[in-house]
Amino acid sequence: MTLHTITLPEQAAGPAHPALADKLGAAMVAIAALMLCIGGFGAFEGFDVLYMTLTFGLGSIGGVLVARGSFRGLPGIRNNGVMTSGMQRRGLVGWAMGVAFTGFYCLLYWFPESLVHVVQAVNPVSMAIRGIPADRWFLYGSLYTAAVVIMGVRMIGRYRHNRYQQIRTLSVMFFQFMAAWLVPALLIGIGSKEFYFHYFWPLKYDYLFPSTLKGLLASPDSLLVFMGFWSMAMTVLATPVLTYFFGKRWYCSWVCGCGALAETLGDPWRQNSDKSTAAWKLERWLVHGVLVFIVLTTVLVWWNSASGGHVLGKASTVVADVYGFAIGAMFSGVIGVGFYPILGSRVWCRFGCPMAAVLGILQRSFSKFRITTNGAQCISCGNCSTYCEMGIDVRAYAQRGADVKRASCVGCGVCAAVCPRGVLKLENR
Ligand code: SF4
Ligand code: SF4
Repeated sequence: MTLHTITLPEQAAGPAHPALADKLGAAMVAIAALMLCIGGFGAFEGFDVLYMTLTFGLGSIGGVLVARGSFRGLPGIRNNGVMTSGMQRRGLVGWAMGVAFTGFYCLLYWFPESLVHVVQAVNPVSMAIRGIPADRWFLYGSLYTAAVVIMGVRMIGRYRHNRYQQIRTLSVMFFQFMAAWLVPALLIGIGSKEFYFHYFWPLKYDYLFPSTLKGLLASPDSLLVFMGFWSMAMTVLATPVLTYFFGKRWYCSWVCGCGALAETLGDPWRQNSDKSTAAWKLERWLVHGVLVFIVLTTVLVWWNSASGGHVLGKASTVVADVYGFAIGAMFSGVIGVGFYPILGSRVWCRFGCPMAAVLGILQRSFSKFRITTNGAQCISCGNCSTYCEMGIDVRAYAQRGADVKRASCVGCGVCAAVCPRGVLKLENR
């Protein structure tokens, strides 16, 4: 199905012309990227602070200058040029960016030796917080967090008329910076175990594996025991209770790191999500298939543990390794993020995330959350469907005046934010 968007009168002037600060910012980002590549050949060997300044320092300042541009002009979505943009609508620039993102993930997962010099760009911070040299995962976490924070500023500027979008974006920026980056690094710094308090089973599948859980609960360190109880409580208690009151959005659009990147870095490509029925059918098979796989794996490793290792023997780690490669690396990283410019920003959340599957089942079956529609006001412009990153045809519900209560809806609220008639409302009732 092809969806068309209408241009509102106040948007007719088109996007604001780039100001000098925007151009300066773009130049700084380009120089930072260039320096990162040059440093990859060892050009900054022994000059870690200079390397960090010329890459993360310059890139962050430049990125914020560019993101600040979203505070100019009218707030809200700007349809002009989106469907003909080479960058935003699978043109040459979009494909080039997709290849670049995917290539980076391939290097990260399978050719880490190619990044040994690049990790020096975060070495000073790693030494200061963690007390150990940086590795590729600390580099990745730092790049990821910088992208969420900088593109989060852009998101706040773009939706500065919408309180829900502002608070939600601040929330994902906070969780990404604190729970995904700073706290795990500080835990390593104090000699404890690296732990992510905002990731739970089944997304962080090994947090409920016997090897992890027994180790935490049997530890003499009360902090590790707390982590064990936290993992169990968040999965068994908090997940169903919070989903009952707030729907899937409490996690997917407010807390999760994957959602954080999708809602910030991925925002320019949200219109590329596939709205076809075939995509919806594929989505249901894949996302529930991954969930079944991880549930069976978890049952199997516990059974194996209870039998003293007789059930699986040496194969006990193979199933988890297969999952880690196929789902953790290939799906969530290479395809999930690498294909943002081609397939939209929520490919992983929609087709692969087992946490999204669990939350979706809970949301669909007993949550109070729904998007209510005032059908009489709908002018069928299609903005809501176009910008739904989960590929939901929201307009079809609005035209009938029916509530949107779909398992896949992450409650991002962008459909409501881009509706020119105020037809849609996110409610818990
Ligand atoms: S239906 Fe609306 S709130 Fe739900 S995922 Fe789509 S755009 Fe976001
Ligand atoms: S609900 Fe709003 S955005 Fe969606 S088609 Fe109707 S008027 Fe347009």
